[in-house]
Formats: sequence, structure tokens, C-alpha cells
Amino acid sequence: MHALVVSEPGSVGLAELPEPVPAADEVLIEPVLVGICGTDLDIVAGDIDPDFVRYPVTLGHEWVGRVVEDGGRAPGARGALPPLVAGTRVVVEGVVPCWHCAECVAGDTNRCATYDEIGFTRPGAAAERIAVPRRLVHAIADSVPDESAVLVEPASVVFRALARCRPRPGQRVLVIGDGTIGLLAARLVRLWSPASVTVIGRRAGQAALVATAGAEAFITDESALADGSGADGRFDLVIEAAGAAESVSAAMRLVGRGGTVALLGYSGQEAQVPMPVDDLINGDITIVASFSYTSGAWRHVVKLLNSDQLDLGFLITHRFPLADWRQAFDAIRSPAGPRAKVVLELKPSSA
Ligand SMILES: [Zn+2]
Ligand SMILES: [Zn+2]
Repeated sequence: MHALVVSEPGSVGLAELPEPVPAADEVLIEPVLVGICGTDLDIVAGDIDPDFVRYPVTLGHEWVGRVVEDGGRAPGARGALPPLVAGTRVVVEGVVPCWHCAECVAGDTNRCATYDEIGFTRPGAAAERIAVPRRLVHAIADSVPDESAVLVEPASVVFRALARCRPRPGQRVLVIGDGTIGLLAARLVRLWSPASVTVIGRRAGQAALVATAGAEAFITDESALADGSGADGRFDLVIEAAGAAESVSAAMRLVGRGGTVALLGYSGQEAQVPMPVDDLINGDITIVASFSYTSGAWRHVVKLLNSDQLDLGFLITHRFPLADWRQAFDAIRSPAGPRAKVVLELKPSSA
């Protein structure tokens, strides 16, 4: 089968790999759509903490697919999950928890003592077939388009961070960053009934996407905040989704007393940001840094999609067949025009 493989940092391309065979307690799936994000480009470039990736690796940690074959249950498997019927559309948690360590038992599966993740330490879904643990597979309702389901992974990352911030109704929210994560944050924070959501971005061409995400205001110049949504121009919750050191500084400057700063964007392994310590203490500020998603956050996002409370399909702005993966990478590196999620098509959606 064909797969998009990073053999070592700096070396990526389509490779011919043997098809995986599902073991007991595994499911064989054919990916339909696979999202590509900045983290994939970091894996290609080798710009990722070496503890979190194992080369060679098949890319693909944001995806939706269809069941080909259920490998059945191992004898004595506990909590026997029902077999999955061929053709069922599914999304699959990428973080593979051990389910035994103290973090997993407490539900903090994102901090499992053994880090293991599809598309990082084990083969990803930018391939014609992938075998995954049954326990991580979630069926998607017929009403959910592939274009929405393919975003469950980044949506779970954002949902987990927001849930950790415990937003209260009526709060003024600022999102820094107009990329996919910022747009997802603007959409998902609505679940907590804020008074207003403002997005600061750098690309004026993102305005329509920001509006569709549900933000009241979109600005490309921080000085416009002087008369902005917050009393004194400050916000109760500031979400850093740009992944830039200067945005982290801006977040700490723009949060109001008693407020929370959520850090979602990676600024780069070497990035350092000076902290205005006295201001943070006087302001009684909470800083929340959130890693990945828990199994619980993933299940919650799937439930929102399956109950038609959330539609994320508006975020797909670019799609390419797998063979055109170079164009997909270019669309992320240097977007011309509005750009949110770039996806690779592995199979026609309606087959
Ligand atoms: Zn990603
Ligand atoms: Zn664990």
C-alpha cells in the first residue's frame, strides 16, 4: 500500500509498505480524509521534541476512515467491545494510553507514563490502511460529514484546554491566532456561553472564517483593542493559539484581573518568554498550559458531533489527493488566500 512516510528528519515521500494485518483487539481501517497540520511539518523538519516521535513514521494523526475488518477480541479480553461492522465510519483516538498507570486510572490519559501516539511513535493514517486498538475507535453518526469528523483530533485538543480553564457564562474571551486551532477555539468556547469572543490574527483574509467560527470581532492590530470588547480592553479568558512567543506576552498583557491565560500553541523548543511576575500576582492570573487531549475529551467531542451540536466542516479550505501531498504542505507553509484545515483525500468520500 501507499503511505506518506518521514524516513528521517528532512526526508519525506510516498513509500510502498506492506498492508497491516489486524491483531486480536485491533481494527483494520481505510482512512478517507487525513488532516495535515503544522505539527506534521515539524515532524518532517525534525523540529519536534525527540521524546515525542519515532522515525521512520507514517504521518497522519487527524483523520476519519471506514472499517475494513475487525480483528476480533483476544481470549479473556475484559469489557468486550462489540465487533465493528465493515464500512462503519470511525474516528480513532491518537494517544494510545496504557490504561494502567496512575495518570490513566485518574483519567489523565494525555499524561500516560508511556507516551505512544498514532502518527508520532506508531504509524499514522496517511496510508491506504491502518490497524488500531479497538478501544480507541469511535463510530460516527451518518449525519456527520467526513469534513467535520476529520477535525475531532484538533477539536479534542482545544476542548480539553478550554474545559481545564472552566470558563464561566458571560465572560469576555480573546483568541490570539487565526489558524485552525484559533478558529476551533473561537467555535468551541461558545459551548460555555461567553459574552463575547474576539479573535486577533495576522491575515485579514481569514475574516470570513473567523465570523463563521462565531466570533463577534476580528482584528489584525492589537491597538484596536483599546476600545475593544473588554472593560479597559482586557479579557477574562485569553487563548494563545498562534504559537508565537510574542503572542504569549500579549496574552499575559491582555488578560484582566482574575482571568485565565490558556496556552495552546507551540512557540518552538527554544522559545523563552519573560514573565511579568508582579503583574500576574497582582492580577490573580491563572496560566493553563494544556497538552494534547484526554480520552474523556475525545469522547465528549464525538458526542457533540454525533448529536449535531457541533459542525466543523467549515474549516476545510483545501483538499488534495494523497499523491499531491507536496501541494498540501505548500498550502500550510505559504497560504494564498483564506486557509484553515488542509486535508489529504485517501478515498472518495461518497464511495
Ligand atoms: Zn495536528
Ligand atoms: Zn498510562
